[in-house]
Amino acid sequence: MLKSMSAGTRSLFALGALIGLSSVTVLTLELETETPEVEPAEEVVTASLASLPVDPEDFGLGDALDVRPATLKRRETLSDLVNRLDLPGNHGHQALYSLTSSDLLDARRVRPGLEVKAHVSGDTLNALSVDLEPGRRLMAKRMPDGQYRGFALESQLIPTPYVVKGSIETSLYQDAQKLGAEDQQVVDFAQVFAYDLDFQREVHPGDEFEMVFDVLMDERGNVIRRGDVLYAALNGKAVSKSFYRFTTPDEKVTDYFQANGESSTKFLMKTPINGARLSSRFGKRRHPISGYTRLHKGTDFAAPTGTPIYAAGNGVVERASRYGGYGHYVRIRHAKGYKTAYAHMSRYGRGIRSGRSVRQGQIIGYVGSTGASTGPHLHYEVYKNGKPVDAMRLKLPTGRKLAMDPEIFEVFQVERDRIDAIRATREDPAEAIVTASVAPPAP
Ligand SMILES: [Zn+2]
Repeated sequence: MLKSMSAGTRSLFALGALIGLSSVTVLTLELETETPEVEPAEEVVTASLASLPVDPEDFGLGDALDVRPATLKRRETLSDLVNRLDLPGNHGHQALYSLTSSDLLDARRVRPGLEVKAHVSGDTLNALSVDLEPGRRLMAKRMPDGQYRGFALESQLIPTPYVVKGSIETSLYQDAQKLGAEDQQVVDFAQVFAYDLDFQREVHPGDEFEMVFDVLMDERGNVIRRGDVLYAALNGKAVSKSFYRFTTPDEKVTDYFQANGESSTKFLMKTPINGARLSSRFGKRRHPISGYTRLHKGTDFAAPTGTPIYAAGNGVVERASRYGGYGHYVRIRHAKGYKTAYAHMSRYGRGIRSGRSVRQGQIIGYVGSTGASTGPHLHYEVYKNGKPVDAMRLKLPTGRKLAMDPEIFEVFQVERDRIDAIRATREDPAEAIVTASVAPPAP
């Protein structure tokens, strides 16, 4: 993944995009003749990798080139590799230093297989390039004063919307992957529905799903990576909902919203644990240990010992200690009169103590079988104004409603309609990928 850039590099990135690919040399020359008072830590030039040092003259590397490629071996450092290239003088190390000293490259975090190329002309190393990851190349270039200067060259990625649509046959994970999604898109998709749905229990064969995300390609049509999920929809037995990704212009918060502008985020998560099986519901039942029939005040989720348990919502820890039959127990006080409690844990999450604030989704403990418990599970309770309520049937206060703010809702509607237009025109994923190579960049 490309790292986020500082404000300075962002403007250079934009400049590179504006001037287009054929002008890389021009920009380079500008950088050469300029003597800025404060040298920026990192410079990013947007360029097509296809047009880069394949023909090094385009990058002002001079003629009569002797290009020496090398691949980083296991247990080899970049310094070892530079020695192996047998470069003139100390030039290789100076070039490398211009990259490692400028935040462009962390020499301790390189992996075997990294491709490096030295461009030598007589007794001078003109440039050293390092292919850091697909779409990103580092270049240490010798400047007229004999110093090396580091640049990051990023291929201009063209986002092309991609629609994955199908029905569940085996699992969302497998079915979506078959259609072209990757792990990250499936995880993002599940996250969008985490407040509405217990994925283990409430997703059934035949349920229909749809997701839209961008596929980022370089100019040669190579897929460099897949982008964020823009749209996630599920039309199933338990839940039928669709969500659009949107960043609010005022708070700059990225969230998923229904077509009516309601946020997917809820005040409390429905299932404060991943991959668990609901093993006992809220309500009257015969207690497995005491044998008495009484109210089961919570919901049980069976899961292996050690499975992380999340805070269902933001709040303050009221208790994090042993509590009779509950074993290791955490109770959180939330806003609006709600409390949640988590029992039988094997241990507590890091820093979980009474009085501490917790965020929604923070790990507060791990599944265990402490107290009166017949096997590893989470016993989860929700209280509203002191009364136990069924977590699975809760009508919870929702997150933000964009419609309350007409100006923002209008901006959202534009984005929503844009995504719907993508869905309408690119329903066949095979077609989307074929048209991708000829489609112009999205405006
Ligand atoms: Zn229970």
